[in-house]
Amino acid sequence: MLDLKGKKVLVVGLGKSGLAAALFLRRRGALVTVSDTRSAEALSKEIPTLLEEGVMVEAGGHGLLTFRRQDLIVVSPGVPIDTPELVQVKSFGLPVIGELELAARFLKGRTIAVTGSNGKTTTTTLLGEILAAAGLPTLVGGNIGVPVVALIDQSAGESWSVIEVSSFQLETTDEFHPTIAVILNITPDHLDRHGSFENYCAAKERVFARQTAEDWLVLNADNAPCVAAASRAAARVYWFSAEHPVSQGAWLEQGFVVYRSAGDAAIEKIMPLSGIPLKGAHNNENVLAAVVAARLAEVPAEAIRGAVEKFHAVEHRLEYVATRNGVKFYNDSKATNVDATAKAVTAFPSGIHLILGGKDKGSPYTVLAPLLRERVRAVYTIGAAAAKIESQLRGVVPILSCKTLAEAVASAASAARSGDVVLLAPACSSYDQFENYEQRGRVFKQLVQELRG
Ligand code: ADP
Repeated sequence: MLDLKGKKVLVVGLGKSGLAAALFLRRRGALVTVSDTRSAEALSKEIPTLLEEGVMVEAGGHGLLTFRRQDLIVVSPGVPIDTPELVQVKSFGLPVIGELELAARFLKGRTIAVTGSNGKTTTTTLLGEILAAAGLPTLVGGNIGVPVVALIDQSAGESWSVIEVSSFQLETTDEFHPTIAVILNITPDHLDRHGSFENYCAAKERVFARQTAEDWLVLNADNAPCVAAASRAAARVYWFSAEHPVSQGAWLEQGFVVYRSAGDAAIEKIMPLSGIPLKGAHNNENVLAAVVAARLAEVPAEAIRGAVEKFHAVEHRLEYVATRNGVKFYNDSKATNVDATAKAVTAFPSGIHLILGGKDKGSPYTVLAPLLRERVRAVYTIGAAAAKIESQLRGVVPILSCKTLAEAVASAASAARSGDVVLLAPACSSYDQFENYEQRGRVFKQLVQELRG
């Protein structure tokens, strides 16, 4: 375990996990400084708490000297690893790790890490509920909102920590070593920050890089980058597939979710497909992944079935909002990349009025064209990415340029006929017009509630 007493540690970036990491390090006796490029004014909520705990704060920019004077640097997932000050101190051999790596060195018990381009929060939440339903001492955290350092004090030898991990968190791991790693899928996302799809895949693969033959890796057999990753794994690989049987893992067969523990073992019926209350075929994949991880943790089928049947969609994930004049409204504000939007559109056979746009993340929208032609009546564009979307999808379906979400909801609601669906699944992040995807989703729901009918 890392000895922090008297060590000089710099925490870069004061988001939720940076703040939690700084306070954790301080309580373990480190001499902690926090550095953030935001102004002292913007950090007026966090600074008093930090100063009270004896943490030094550098706001409004990074000083190179602040970085050089440390024994260890803990970097937040929101801070790019090519930040010049970080690159420079790394070249001097100073250790630079993320909050996940820091926390993992102190967390007791076993860890399940869930990563992927889409489905992390849904699968992490579901898996947490399955393990808890089986009576296992379960902790849930990570990218999902509760920093992993906040789980440390509650963790014990028999704990199972289910952690959602993003590619940004994985970039700054070193020894991180989950008992079970799950990669749900790898599809283009965050290319604006990772630079290329190869870099992004490499970051995701760090989730299993330190695993050994004692551990397990759960992969999506229907996703080519996951299949390619298997050859680089030291852990025992288990699979899930929504399309075909697998040698070991879970798949769909004759209306059932089934599981096989090893190549020649008996096939076990876990639950009927009709018992999954979530919309969209992509959620079947999330359930399959959770089933494999849960069976590896020795959770019996009854506990899995009970927890899945009771599970509700997580807010902003293909969440049903209301019906107005026979038109159903769905909030999938968390569809912040093209693949998530494709999955959302696939959940409805036809009659879709689709709201697209926001801050562009560098992936092409053209891949949506066949699906749009088949199922979507019209696209309503909003935000900074509107022009790019319009130019890439011109002629595929009618496109209305709406600029704001309010205008898009109003236009879609007036164009939609009874039986149609209005879907917010924007394929972009929200930061051009909103604080985050949660606020965008809440605004959408509010606009829908205000519609007459
Ligand atoms: P993440 O935490 O990885 O962003 P979420 O569970 O929050 O995943 O879902 C994010 C978005 O992706 C939502 O729009 C959701 O409807 C969609 N989604 C969920 N699971 C999958 C999946 N397995 N494949 C593709 N899209 C998915």
